[in-house]
Amino acid sequence: MGSVQIVTTILAAGITAVAVWLAVRAVMKMTAVIRLGQPAPERFADKGARTRKMLVETAGHTRMLKWGVVGAAHWFVMVGFIVLSLLVLEAYFEVVTPTGGLPIIGHWTVFGLATEIITVLGLVGILVLMAIRLQNRPNRPGGRSRFTGSTMWQGYFVEWIVLLVLIFGLVIRGFKVATDHFEYPVWATPVSHAVGAILPDWSDGASVAALIKIVISMTWLIVISLNVTMGVAWHRFLAFPNIFFKRDPEKPAGSGLGPLRPMTSEGKPLDFEEADPEKDQFGVAQVEQFTWKGLLDFSTCTECGRCQSQCPAWNTGKPLSPKLLVLSLRDHAYAKAPYLLAGGGKDLTGEEKATQAQLAHLDVLSLAEGDKPLIGTAEEGGVIDPDVLWSCTTCGACVEQCPVDIEHVDHIVDMRRYQVLIESSFPSEAGVMLRNLENKGNPWGAPQNTREDWTKGLDFEVPRVGEVDDFEYLFWVGCAGAFEDRAKKTTRAVATLLNEAGVSFAILGEGETCSGDPARRIGNEFVFQMLAQQNVETLNEAFEGREKAKRKIVATCPHCFNTLGNEYGQLGGEFEVVHHTQLLAHLVSTGKLTPVQPVDGGVTYHDPCYLGRHNRVFAAPREVLGDAIQGEITEMPRNSERSFCCGAGGARMWMEEKIGKRINVDRVEEAMATGAKTVAVGCPFCSTMLNDGVNGKGAGEQVEVVDVASVLLRSVKPEQPRGDKESTPVAG
Ligand code: SF4
Ligand code: SF4
Repeated sequence: MGSVQIVTTILAAGITAVAVWLAVRAVMKMTAVIRLGQPAPERFADKGARTRKMLVETAGHTRMLKWGVVGAAHWFVMVGFIVLSLLVLEAYFEVVTPTGGLPIIGHWTVFGLATEIITVLGLVGILVLMAIRLQNRPNRPGGRSRFTGSTMWQGYFVEWIVLLVLIFGLVIRGFKVATDHFEYPVWATPVSHAVGAILPDWSDGASVAALIKIVISMTWLIVISLNVTMGVAWHRFLAFPNIFFKRDPEKPAGSGLGPLRPMTSEGKPLDFEEADPEKDQFGVAQVEQFTWKGLLDFSTCTECGRCQSQCPAWNTGKPLSPKLLVLSLRDHAYAKAPYLLAGGGKDLTGEEKATQAQLAHLDVLSLAEGDKPLIGTAEEGGVIDPDVLWSCTTCGACVEQCPVDIEHVDHIVDMRRYQVLIESSFPSEAGVMLRNLENKGNPWGAPQNTREDWTKGLDFEVPRVGEVDDFEYLFWVGCAGAFEDRAKKTTRAVATLLNEAGVSFAILGEGETCSGDPARRIGNEFVFQMLAQQNVETLNEAFEGREKAKRKIVATCPHCFNTLGNEYGQLGGEFEVVHHTQLLAHLVSTGKLTPVQPVDGGVTYHDPCYLGRHNRVFAAPREVLGDAIQGEITEMPRNSERSFCCGAGGARMWMEEKIGKRINVDRVEEAMATGAKTVAVGCPFCSTMLNDGVNGKGAGEQVEVVDVASVLLRSVKPEQPRGDKESTPVAG
């Protein structure tokens, strides 16, 4: 070993020892913080499915590739990081001897070829990612950036490290070529040979370049170890467990979408018959009351801003960005952790758990962080502003886009649950809706005995459950479908089409009550449980003696469709629920309904969030519309998985929209820009929001917002009187 190699070896060993020690400390710290969360035993079920999903999502980059160029570039960088770690390992042999290499595989031509290819593709990938980050930098002139609020220096730092590590890998090889100690042929390693052609014949060159490569790599490890909230770097390790422990590994996409998680305390679902707010956790009031998976979610965020770029609240000037919400919770959790790990924290009655002695050695910043309210205004020192919390429509665009499967909607609703159930703190205008749900069983407060009014004037009888011996489908009308004038037209259209197709169906009539969706999404789990239990009992009675496959329900409201199909199972109600567009598509495809007259003027379709993203029903409404117009619909730029919310979900329908641009107006502008005369919807709330938007623009005469069922009815029965347009919602 020459004197140069003695120095390079000592320096490499020194910096590696420091970096590894800091990294072990950092991992222990992160583990301790994540373990502060509440239990989530269900995350350990289905280990086989979880493993499969994790491998598919990481190796196949299935979520990342939804954004083609970024996804492909990131895949090369990820593969480069994993495979080229071997070349970092090889550098430790090269600091000792400039001709050194990995034992066994280091002599294989195939290893030389594979690492050469991955190095070149990794270089291309990282340059693309750097260009994209620069192009989208928040301070560029004009436009909002998905990186607004991201810690930009961390992104640049990580990208430069990757770039330099790849370059120095080639430099090491180049010196070996220049000194004639490179054993791979030119055909397998042409770039290394090209680099070697311009480097001097310096015998120690490979050792010095290897040292530089090790110093760069270890500098990265030291920096990220000193910054445990540096998600842009840590996600390389944390993405694997975060995807493994996602809510539902069997779901093809949107694991955190569809049903909400039940309220839990100590990892067990809360039973409201026995629950006691002084002994049981009601939602989330402190960051440590999230489950450990929640804290892992916050730690894993890469700050990529994909969620932010799709969020309807953020895009219309509200203070909510799902990314910034996650980052605030992450930073708060890590800043509060020393206080919590010292035994601090508030018990469920709000009393401090730690003794004075336990907290005596803590720094003031950590103590101050422990005192911050989780939800509070800037003046109150809150972590999350109430305007942020209540701006969410639970549309799920963030969950859909997140490449590391963070479950934003669950976290937002958990925080709402505490605010509503314990603090009674929520936008006051929503109080009327909650009172109506409790007292009248519907959000509008309409009398229950008017639930069947929509059937008046139909030229056929709509049977009630109990009046007919047998029925194939129970038609779940929903509160909007029963009480809201515009939605009643959809209900009538669906009933007419089912009757026309000879489908045997029955309604519950006055036996139906609100599905509970608005109560659950606003955070009032108590009212949800009350309504849901009542409905489950009624439905179980209606379907008594039938197996699940024959307990069929058709619903026109995607919120009811989601709640009945995905959430009533949590309360013992197992049903086969379809949306009316799915049933209508089936009836047309099987020839039971025949569109005869094409609907003209051009049609565009707005995907309701709870039908599309939350339940993956994208094709059926499009098929129905295609049949009705006998042609192609005109898509809006934001459609299907990337559809833009109407602004009504998450109980926002019953809250005033005081900040920024109205979400429905933004969506209506997009719909009108297609030039279509008909904007088809599949949800009564979307219908109300988009109609309001169109009317607000004074375009009610040019553009019509109407349900898919009404469009089909016009084609199937063109003689049917129209009049699906104007209406005034029933007053509360
Ligand atoms: S659910 Fe929708 S509104 Fe809520 S944070 Fe996510 S993207 Fe924004
Ligand atoms: S999409 Fe996911 S990883 Fe990216 S910023 Fe949003 S929460 Fe973080």
